[in-house]
Amino acid sequence: MKRTALLFAAMAVFTLMAAPAFAIQYVTIGTGGVTGVYYPTGGAISKLVNKKRREYNLRMTVESTGGSVFNVNALMNGDLEMGVVQSDLQYQAMKGIGSWEGKPQDKLRAVFSIHPEIVTIIAAVDSNINSVADFKGKIINIGAPGTGQRVNATDLISAAGLDVKKDLRAEGIKPAEAAKMLQDGRIDAFFYTVGHPNGSIKEAVAGARKVTFVPVAKELVDKLVAEQPYYAAANIPVAPYPGIANTEPVPSFGVKATICTSADVPEDVIYKITKEVFENIEDLKKLHPALAVLTKENMLHGLSAPLHPGAEKYYREAGLIK
Ligand code: GLU
Repeated sequence: MKRTALLFAAMAVFTLMAAPAFAIQYVTIGTGGVTGVYYPTGGAISKLVNKKRREYNLRMTVESTGGSVFNVNALMNGDLEMGVVQSDLQYQAMKGIGSWEGKPQDKLRAVFSIHPEIVTIIAAVDSNINSVADFKGKIINIGAPGTGQRVNATDLISAAGLDVKKDLRAEGIKPAEAAKMLQDGRIDAFFYTVGHPNGSIKEAVAGARKVTFVPVAKELVDKLVAEQPYYAAANIPVAPYPGIANTEPVPSFGVKATICTSADVPEDVIYKITKEVFENIEDLKKLHPALAVLTKENMLHGLSAPLHPGAEKYYREAGLIK
């Protein structure tokens, strides 16, 4: 009897001691709407990392979320371990400006950047919107709260001298629903800051109502780029969207999608994920056409928050930074 009790006690102690070493670390990556590029990209990264789940004791899951602003806030309150965040919003969160006015998010950490994203305005041809100035009196989906496009749309509309509250009817519809709303004639246009090609725009273009990308005038692009360090001029490709009214690439401006985390996430977790992604970059590039442009070097561009120590450790080992 005594012996059995002792044996049990010994087993219990052993289990307790051994548990931390075998405990699986769960990492959830927050993305965006299911028809965007963040969601499939988060899925692609998770898939790569999960191939090594036994070796790494790590399990990654992907979650569809409201977008960049939502992801920063969820990272900061510990609801997510990783998140996709537009480079402009990473910058604003780190500095304590924009949505985080006076509240710098000191624990925000950069891991790497991924594809370029372009501020894209998709309008119905019959709405006669040929420039931002034509938004007057129209129903424009500037994006749901928590999305990156809502911030970029607001910036662009005010740069054009319009009042987002008075001059137009601004809607806050989720990206996954905007294409259908446009086809149903319930909105005139919608904003999407997104990598190309993507499912939402394909859906918008595939309907009976003819659609077009609205160009952003050069003066407006120049003004935004001069005022903000994170904006760059960019052209929207039309080839991936057969049926769109435009025949040439459409001028606009853009940012980069980046992967962020929190200073509270352990170094070894981010080290393993970074290493897995960089060592399998060729596989990653094949998992979504928007990722085809990635190189190990350009994946370190567009980061403004401090690098997470796990990512930094890998970049030093790989000779990507000194
Ligand atoms: N850039 C968008 C955002 O931050 C999301 C785009 C996507 O899901 O691909 O809300």
